[in-house]
Amino acid sequence: MSRSTENTGFTCAYCAAPVTPLTNGSYRNHCPQCLYSLHVDLVPGDRANSCRALMRPVMVEHHPAKGYMLVHECLTCGARHRNRVAQDSRQPDDLDQLLTLLPEPIRKNRSTHGR
Ligand SMILES: [Zn+2]
Ligand SMILES: [Zn+2]
Repeated sequence: MSRSTENTGFTCAYCAAPVTPLTNGSYRNHCPQCLYSLHVDLVPGDRANSCRALMRPVMVEHHPAKGYMLVHECLTCGARHRNRVAQDSRQPDDLDQLLTLLPEPIRKNRSTHGR
């Protein structure tokens, strides 16, 4: 019996798109087409959460160190999670969908933090 937390593909519970595993070692936890996720993880990849409801993409935030983060909100319990946007060569997150979630101020207000 192998119950390792493998990086496996899945079928999207919202739009039924077939989702392939990420190739860069990260866990794929949301659909690249509709960006919906499932509330299944306590720690990314562990699938230990019993909620298992759909999580709606509510916004995209820019984190100075981590890059673009997708914020999901659970439709059942209201929990919010941040997930890194998937930049996968085979099946990247849909750019048009991401742009609709990006607030205007982020694009205008360029960060002045030093690098
Ligand atoms: Zn989907
Ligand atoms: Zn939940």
